[in-house]
Amino acid sequence: MTDILDFDREHLWHPYTSMVDPLPCYEAVSANGVMIELRDGRKLIDGMSSWWCAIHGYNHPELNRAIVEQIEKMSHVMFGGMTHAPAVELARKLIDMTPPSLNRLFFADSGSVAMEVAIKMVMQYWFANDRPEKSRLLTIAGGYHGDTFGAMSVCDPVTGMHEKFVNVLPKHLFAPRPSSRFGEELRDDDRDDLTKLVESHHNELAALVLEPIVQGAGGMWFYSAEYLKHARELCDEFDLLLVFDEIATGFGRTGEMFAVDHVDVEPDVLCVGKALTGGTMTLAACLANERIATGISADGGVLMHGPTFMANPLACAVAKRSIELLEEIDWRTRVSAVNAQLEHELRPLSKLKGVRDVRTIGAIGVVQMDAAVNVAQLQKQFVDDGVWIRPFNDLIYVMPPYITQPEQISTLTRAIGKALM
Ligand SMILES: *Cc1c(COP(=O)(O)O)cnc(C)c1O
Repeated sequence: MTDILDFDREHLWHPYTSMVDPLPCYEAVSANGVMIELRDGRKLIDGMSSWWCAIHGYNHPELNRAIVEQIEKMSHVMFGGMTHAPAVELARKLIDMTPPSLNRLFFADSGSVAMEVAIKMVMQYWFANDRPEKSRLLTIAGGYHGDTFGAMSVCDPVTGMHEKFVNVLPKHLFAPRPSSRFGEELRDDDRDDLTKLVESHHNELAALVLEPIVQGAGGMWFYSAEYLKHARELCDEFDLLLVFDEIATGFGRTGEMFAVDHVDVEPDVLCVGKALTGGTMTLAACLANERIATGISADGGVLMHGPTFMANPLACAVAKRSIELLEEIDWRTRVSAVNAQLEHELRPLSKLKGVRDVRTIGAIGVVQMDAAVNVAQLQKQFVDDGVWIRPFNDLIYVMPPYITQPEQISTLTRAIGKALM
């Protein structure tokens, strides 16, 4: 046990950590259902779905079977010049599930790469259409789109990583984060803020890029669905493309299959990732409409991207099975039950000292504090209480697997309540 942790501490980077003064780390040895087992035998209820991915929980026999069956046929072949049934069958499903105009699909190997590809799509579109000056992006503050350079350039400029890369990151435009909450009408100031930026910059703008309805790792903020309608209208009027990053929101998490389903709007490009494979393997995809696809290739142009592990058959096979499982478990009923319980059990915490806000949507529950929390200390307390919850900044949040049982959700919310006492 100490061997693993000691070697890890000496040699392994973890997400956003120091190699000199790393935060403590726990060794997981197995995971089953919603439980993660540690080396010392303790079992934790997973409140994070391993960063939003493991929507069906862990070690799911059906997902395992999909991987095993595929590995015995073919674990990988190059996608350059070849295709295969797992890719086609998954693409067919994704095209069916997403807004009707999105019928061209690119498989990427992670969410960040999917965002890079989406950005290339919109840039190449305008380049091919003799408008190369339309090469800046407009996005909303408080967003998170990944850690690669293109994706990072549209992350929040303050909480994102901009200052360390200021000389190499392209300077994009940021609208203020919409203050109108989910479920509310869009306030005039939110509407005007976006309108003004589009009106004055549309000639240099390729696209508006945003996380629809739920801004995830940039602050867990849920905003008015009407903002998306307004965004679409502006993009149509001023000839901007519209990109939705549904990497965190996809596959039922917000109470609809995709966040875009909360409203009658279609983006030009939609990115999915994270829960796509049910948390088993890395895979992401960009779906685009006909305008983008044919526009890029109008003069014989080609989309300039091609990952080595593009459309990996194992990942595609398990993603297809994960989507089928969603239907089989009646995800909509489950997510709405999780929501009702999170709302009921977290809402009372809003009265506690130090709590600024409590909000829930779908299978996401957030307690926002007045100030940043001590992550290492809170995490230890949560582990001692038998739950896996990883706060960031001023946010303590849960987004459990959809199969989490009511008493397990209560254990999660009780642990949060106790931590705030
Ligand atoms: C996690 C995330 C990404 C990046 O995905 P990776 O697989 O970590 O590269 C992009 N956009 C959103 C909204 C995300 O939540």
